[in-house]
Amino acid sequence: MGHEDEDDVARAAALLARAGRVTVLTGAGVSTDSGIPDFRGPQGVWTRNPAAERLSSIQAYVEDPEVRREAWRQRAVHPIWDARPGAAHAALVDLERSGRLAALLTQNIDELHQAAGSSPDLVVELHGTMHHTQCLSCGVRAPMGEALERVAAGEDDPPCPHCGGILKSATISFGQNLDAGVIRRAQQAAVDADVLLAVGTSLGVHPAAGVVDLAAAAGAAVIIVNGEPTPYDDVATVVLRGGVGEILPRLVEGL
Ligand code: NAD
Repeated sequence: MGHEDEDDVARAAALLARAGRVTVLTGAGVSTDSGIPDFRGPQGVWTRNPAAERLSSIQAYVEDPEVRREAWRQRAVHPIWDARPGAAHAALVDLERSGRLAALLTQNIDELHQAAGSSPDLVVELHGTMHHTQCLSCGVRAPMGEALERVAAGEDDPPCPHCGGILKSATISFGQNLDAGVIRRAQQAAVDADVLLAVGTSLGVHPAAGVVDLAAAAGAAVIIVNGEPTPYDDVATVVLRGGVGEILPRLVEGL
């Protein structure tokens, strides 16, 4: 990863220091240091195996039992279950302690922000959580561990114990709509922000990435911290290219 400019780090830190309300948007890049691969980064799951993207399509999941069986095989051994929060997660807890955090919008499904100590009330899970299952027919939610116990006991595609419907992690697949209340809350937090800080996200997934446009249009400063270029770099006030685990602690240390 490249070396961010010292002056740019100082400029971004000053923007945060002056801000009353900071809204943060995180992506898979805040969790790669914790051992959870992203999708589109250089070592991403889809970069290495483009066919894996099909596993994230709701249509394929509903229509193809083999896609579901593969999804359950992967969930059973997913690095999420052993992952611990890293320096980027900890820095966002420090940002909250400074009294500036308005909302922590995350595209991640790993609950590592909450594990690090971010207030659950401020974490908005745009794409749901892998720690629960949800039935695609009756909507009932249950802890993921219950389904994984059935998988370990030999069920390769465990149906909903209540209605027999198809079970899935309580996450948003491609082709599924985000929860309307969740997206409304995220958009409001973007509009209300003095600073929108986007961290470890390729900003390629909508409507999540759209909060950057909303914040910028409402007059917020935009800080992007990511290892690679994003489609929003030209909208940003400051772009910091490098590892989130190194840069974020420096951004918040003086707050
Ligand atoms: P993405 O894979 O599209 O992009 C991640 C970005 O982070 C890439 O641009 C990559 O270069 C960058 N990155 C990776 N590690 C970094 C590091 N240590 N420092 C700086 N930059 C780093 O991820 P996304 O934008 O979050 O969107 C992908 C979708 O996949 C999301 O919808 C999310 O739900 C899901 N997802 C979640 C997890 C998770 O919960 N941890 C993991 C993989 C995918």
